Amino acid sequence: MADLQNAGRLVAIYPGSFDPLTNGHLDIISRGSRLTDSLVVAVLSNTQKQPLFSVAERLEMIRETTAQMPNVAVDSFSGLLVDYAATRGANIVLRGIRAISDYETELQMALLNRRLWPETETVFLMAGEEFSFISSRMVKEIFKLGGDVSSFVPAIVAERLRAKFGSAE
Ligand code: ADP
Repeated sequence: MADLQNAGRLVAIYPGSFDPLTNGHLDIISRGSRLTDSLVVAVLSNTQKQPLFSVAERLEMIRETTAQMPNVAVDSFSGLLVDYAATRGANIVLRGIRAISDYETELQMALLNRRLWPETETVFLMAGEEFSFISSRMVKEIFKLGGDVSSFVPAIVAERLRAKFGSAE
């Protein structure tokens, strides 16, 4: 049983689209990994109909960026988060909060997940203020309009954006 295996340990799932991973996500991952015994960054594979990067590409970029963090694992999942978390024996869902605008949907999700799975807690972390304005959506828009996104994303993500789409015009 996953619960027994992880008895007394803090195992967290950090779910999201990560399309693509940003320095904001990375800051949350690094803060979360310091607070927990084990952190699974979990790419949700069934939401967006037209992602920029495939799930495999997103996993590869996250794996490469977090390679030096020994208690961070990277995985993908589809279906209900609570079902996936149960298979990983997780007792914490980690989410990041940027501005107050994130609060409403995050609250709704946290309360729904609690109803579906009362044993877990959703834990919210705030990224450093230098990352608080960064979102995957803004990174994609800036890149498409020809802007420089290299200070918003890890180096491998900037490289992959250029390799996949050329320099945006
Ligand atoms: P989703 O696609 O579910 O909105 P994302 O992949 O964009 O999720 O993000 C996953 C989680 O990381 C969410 O909780 C989101 O609020 C959080 N997050 C994303 N960017 C930042 C940031 N710059 N600072 C803090 N939290 C962030």
